[in-house]
This record gives sequence, structure tokens and C-alpha cells, in this order.
Amino acid sequence: MNFSSRLLEQAVDEFGRLPGVGKKTALRLVLHLLKQSDGEVARFTGAINQLKEQIKYCKTCFNISDNQECEICASLKRDHQTICVVEDTRDVMAIENTNQYQGVYHVLGGLISPMDGVGPSDLKIEPLIERIKQFEVKEVILALSATMEGDTTIFYLYRKLKDFNIQISTIARGIAFGGELEYVDEITLGRSIATRVPYERNVG
Ligand SMILES: [Zn+2]
Repeated sequence: MNFSSRLLEQAVDEFGRLPGVGKKTALRLVLHLLKQSDGEVARFTGAINQLKEQIKYCKTCFNISDNQECEICASLKRDHQTICVVEDTRDVMAIENTNQYQGVYHVLGGLISPMDGVGPSDLKIEPLIERIKQFEVKEVILALSATMEGDTTIFYLYRKLKDFNIQISTIARGIAFGGELEYVDEITLGRSIATRVPYERNVG
């Protein structure tokens, strides 16, 4: 692409670095922004700046939150003895949308992926184990994607957790999860949580 302006090229480069945004889309978005009023653009950039500066991660479950502790962890209505382990905040949102789950969460922040250089220490696995040691936990539901990375992470977690006196469950593995979770319908996801099964011990 030949740009008539260096500023335009710079903005298009930045938008083009977003996932799923190609150069053409980036150009379209930037030209759209240029047509907006100063106030609208200020609101847009303000939201991004505030997001990065002010967002917090819940000290207990590591979900994205406005406060030190997220609303779910702070709620007395939730079952704090059941922890659903997920990859990221999108999974929490999807499961919450089902209205089928009353427990709390633990957000790993990714999956074990040797190919991408992501090991167990890059994820919130130790804090999960600390949580189980410190608080009375009855069940851990491993709700991770049915991919090689998801399987690897589930197996790793199972090995770490199996000696605790807790139930370890998984959800039906046929469904797309993680990044694709937003496409799974709520009824299917809700049902698979309600009908979760103990993790098969013979694989360990
Ligand atoms: Zn939390």
C-alpha cells in the first residue's frame, strides 16, 4: 500500500496489528475514525487508555475486573467450593451467559503450549493450587478447549490436583471452547456444564 501520509500509514499499521484485521480493514477503520468528530475520537481513545491503565485482575480468580476482587468472587450467592478452571475471560462470559453455573472461576490466562513457548509457570496454575490448599474446595471443573493445548493443560492440572481430596471434572469435550466459545450456543454449553463428568482416572 502506498500511503499519501505517514500519519495515515502509522495508524493503519497499528490497527492492522489487531487479530483478524487485515490492511484493507485497517484502512477502512482509520478513514472512518477520521470522519468522526473530535469528541467521538477522544471517547474512543479514552476508552482504550482507561482500559489499559485502570483494569485490574481479580486477586482470587484472575478474571478481568474493575476492582481488586471481581463481582463473582465477592458474591455470597455463589458456591465458593466449586471452581471452574477456564482459559480466559471470554469463557467466563460465555458460561455466565448460560445461567447454569453457580460456582466460581479460575482464569489461567492461556493454555500450555510448548510450540508457542507457553509453559505451566506462564499460567495461573500455582495460584490455583494455593487456592485449593487455603480454602475449602470440593470440586474443580476443568473447562478447557478440546484442542491439543487444552488436553495437555488438563492432563497437567490433573496430575497436580489428583492428590487433593477434591472431585476433578471435565465438561463434554465435543464442544468448541476457548476462542471459539463465543460461537457455541448457550444451551449446549449450559447442558455440558450441568452434565459434567469426573475426569477419567485411568488416563493418569
Ligand atoms: Zn474473581
